[in-house]
Amino acid sequence: MLKVSNVETFYGQIQALKGINLEVQEGKIITLLGANGAGKTTTMKTLAGLLKPKKGQVEFLGENITGLRADQLLRKGIALVPEGRAILSSMTVLENLEMGAYHRKDKTIKEEIDEVMKRFPILEERQTQMAGTLSGGQQQMLAIARALLSKPRLLLLDEPSMGLAPLIVADIFQIIKEINEAGTTVLLVEQNAKQALKIADYGYVMETGKVIIEGEAKSLLEDPRVVEAYLGRK
Ligand code: ATP
Repeated sequence: MLKVSNVETFYGQIQALKGINLEVQEGKIITLLGANGAGKTTTMKTLAGLLKPKKGQVEFLGENITGLRADQLLRKGIALVPEGRAILSSMTVLENLEMGAYHRKDKTIKEEIDEVMKRFPILEERQTQMAGTLSGGQQQMLAIARALLSKPRLLLLDEPSMGLAPLIVADIFQIIKEINEAGTTVLLVEQNAKQALKIADYGYVMETGKVIIEGEAKSLLEDPRVVEAYLGRK
């Protein structure tokens, strides 16, 4: 579905991605792991069209999409839930959801917002509340729900469990699994390597702008290099 070949991305003179290669197969959950500063967020921003790669190619559903803007990629079916969620805190929950569907012209949006709210009953309960007053976990659910309203084929999730209490983290992972089972392909960046590998089909580990290890999620859970560097603490 998605094929990333030799992608290099820079911040000015600083090279953050040094030739990334990865593939995402339709229907799967793929996870991207690695220490702080490895380049995971830069990879997600590049795939979502927020940063332009200087070299390399990105192919999505057989089409070369290298260098397209975020709004163009959203229309093609790639949606990003960014690190830190980026919800609009002084707008209501409902208004935030409406923003998620803003680029679509069809008349089914209201029905789809109702549908999304059924999946996240807490958002329905709190729909008139300012989004900034929600708990961290509820804000993450709102950010995911908003992205789903663009009807993505591929959902990019950048550290969705960041800063959340363990019980809520479990809820978020469960939601990601359900979204995938309902037909959306997921690329997931996580610090929480163990839980990410438990729900993923395949994983990539990044270090200083490169993929250094890749494999089936099950085998990465037992790979001594991964256990020592990323799973050891738990
Ligand atoms: P984290 O878990 O901390 O988000 P990450 O793996 O997502 O880490 P990136 O945020 O992609 O890593 O950062 C990759 C590299 O690019 C790092 O060396 C970082 O210092 C650098 N970098 C990130 N953002 C910028 C920026 N806006 N300007 C300059 N350098 C940046």
